[in-house]
Amino acid sequence: MVSDLERLLRGIRDPRVLAAFSKVDRACFVPSAYKLQAWADHPLPLEDGATISQPSLVAEMTALLDLQASSRVLEIGTGSGYQTALLAELAARVFTVEISPLLWGRARASLTSLGYVNIAYKRGDGSRGWPEEAPFDRIISTVAFTARPMLLLDQLTSNGICIAPVGPRDGTQWLMLYRSQSDGISEKLITPVRFLSIRSEP
Ligand code: SAH
Repeated sequence: MVSDLERLLRGIRDPRVLAAFSKVDRACFVPSAYKLQAWADHPLPLEDGATISQPSLVAEMTALLDLQASSRVLEIGTGSGYQTALLAELAARVFTVEISPLLWGRARASLTSLGYVNIAYKRGDGSRGWPEEAPFDRIISTVAFTARPMLLLDQLTSNGICIAPVGPRDGTQWLMLYRSQSDGISEKLITPVRFLSIRSEP
């Protein structure tokens, strides 16, 4: 596992990010049928049609977020809770939103049993962020928005960073990095990606 991990984390320099990846065991978050593939560098299925991204992409997104020990972070799409655990290792407080009751309950149970106490969980539609807890220093979405996520960007502190996949449901999405600056929001295209598209409450 260690050599797999080293290979997947090639290019990641931040020692705090590397330490978080060594500490959080991805196998704790992967469905039992896929435990042996936990560190394979491809997405794995979760329940409710969701997928957990390949570890190298999770690492890239986590590094781009440039988390500080004092950061308040909003995450959209809790899924298995794996990314949430990494955020909780690196930031002061994590606010995570998941629309699927099943995944929400499972992730909350896993993260609580692993001892994380700096995570707040919300079951609901994260497309509007979490206005009652805003502003956030960092925002990460692991579900794709079909257009610039304005409601999330409104919840960033100044100098805040938001990472989100953006693009059509059936086409190429781009991983976007937004930064809130005194003269507005800057944006940068990072890499083409394929994420589950955001859904709304039935
Ligand atoms: N980062 C997760 C994987 C997330 S997959 C992990 O590490 O396991 C994307 C997740 O977004 C799915 O769990 C899906 O149910 C959730 N999702 C989809 N639409 C959503 C919405 N509107 N609000 C919150 N979560 C949503």
